[in-house]
Amino acid sequence: MINRMTNWSKMRHLKILLALILILMTGILNAQDKIYFVIRVDDIQSRNTTMVPRRITDFETMAENHRALVTWAVIPHRLIESQNNDGILTDDLIASAAKGHEIAMHGYNHICPTCSQSSHEMICTTYGISHSPAIQSGLISDGLKILSDSLGLKPASFVPPGHYADTTSYSALAQNGFPWISTTGSAPGLIYPNLPNLPPHNEYTWYLSNDNYQARLQDALRDIREKTARDGYYCLLLHDPFIRLGYENGLVINWVNVLLDSVEAEFGESLVYATISQTAEQILGTPSGLESEKPGRVPEMITLSTYPNPFNNQIRFDYNLPEAAQFKLGIFDVLGREIATLADQWQAAGGHSLKWSAADQASGMYYYRIQYNGTSLSNILTGRIILIK
Ligand SMILES: [Zn+2]
Ligand SMILES: [Zn+2]
Repeated sequence: MINRMTNWSKMRHLKILLALILILMTGILNAQDKIYFVIRVDDIQSRNTTMVPRRITDFETMAENHRALVTWAVIPHRLIESQNNDGILTDDLIASAAKGHEIAMHGYNHICPTCSQSSHEMICTTYGISHSPAIQSGLISDGLKILSDSLGLKPASFVPPGHYADTTSYSALAQNGFPWISTTGSAPGLIYPNLPNLPPHNEYTWYLSNDNYQARLQDALRDIREKTARDGYYCLLLHDPFIRLGYENGLVINWVNVLLDSVEAEFGESLVYATISQTAEQILGTPSGLESEKPGRVPEMITLSTYPNPFNNQIRFDYNLPEAAQFKLGIFDVLGREIATLADQWQAAGGHSLKWSAADQASGMYYYRIQYNGTSLSNILTGRIILIK
């Protein structure tokens, strides 16, 4: 009897000990959970030379004050255009890369070889056609050559212009030695598995103003909480013209600065600032060819067509949502004013159609902007429409 009591007592001690070890281990494991934070700035550098200053260094200094790393999605051809005759962009990018910031390649010159529009390049979305392996490989190797000649480096990741790429692009990128791609979009029939994708999340600095400054901060923080819990990282997206638009009064730089303060306060020691390739390596594992991509990592893109375009008085937007989502479609004039909101509501997955009657608008160019936030996908798409009366 005494013996049994002792054994039972030993058992209980063992159980308590095991429980303690488990609690300790959980604590250690939780402490090791990292939140990776990526800052991706696309379209380096904008052709809009009316926006000054031209340099990337103000934004970079703000990031460095947070010990944050920036991934610059560089359009190689810009480095050999006349706006870079002074070589300042080249020098700034070389210095930036030397400090650990990342140079990603953003297409070749961000202009479609088929239709000459600047909204896409790897595939032609105007005519809905792919570019041949020879054309896409040519764009990629020409881009690599410029980056090598100008900056003396090989980019670690690829960002397709306009988020448009297809199976041929993936294949050509892998063949040219790219370990990672970063894109929200995928084309129908995208099957090439060996180029892991680290998609960006949201962008908040398009038309940032004093009026929407606070609301955008709250939106961004909410999104960061949600997406880091789901994905283990957050990739904040910015575009070069939009970091420049806020330069005069420092609005965009201040906004990102405050956002990073808040993110640091929220995540503390778990927060790790990293580039696209560093984050991809942590989140997606071994690059290209060695391990196949985790299924479902490439999100399906919303498919959209505008008809007719150019249009006279009325245009129709036909689109297909890959999943139910909060969906917004706004129309903007060339000054960036939202002149119509065609939808701003939760919509079911599947096909939808919206019409815009522009009888009281002047002839000219307008922009549409689509934002959708579903449970697993989110995206922002923009495009041009032309009204001819
Ligand atoms: Zn095109
Ligand atoms: Zn771009």
